[in-house]
Amino acid sequence: MKTLSVDQKLALDAIKPQDEPHIRLDPGKCRACKARPCLQACPAHLYTLSPETGEVTFEHAGCLECGTCLALCPEDLDWSYPAGGFGVQYRHG
Ligand code: SF4
Ligand code: SF4
Repeated sequence: MKTLSVDQKLALDAIKPQDEPHIRLDPGKCRACKARPCLQACPAHLYTLSPETGEVTFEHAGCLECGTCLALCPEDLDWSYPAGGFGVQYRHG
């Protein structure tokens, strides 16, 4: 059996994003957050730090719903699963 890398496995998944983000950042809390673990920990690399503004932004469309950002965020992140029929569909384990 061929061994796939994590990125290759993730590429097999299908994601149907809903229009409204299911995770919402509070810009004030993100500004005050020193460690910003979401930037390093999200396996889909959906959190980015703008070099121009220094603000943390988030793109919900590729979310794997793993909950890592929720577990690590020190600021009570507004996190929920997408509505039924939306979100990730795992196809490899
Ligand atoms: S860890 Fe939470 S509060 Fe800190 S930057 Fe990320 S989302 Fe914002
Ligand atoms: S739930 Fe997982 S994939 Fe989605 S944004 Fe958080 S860390 Fe990234």
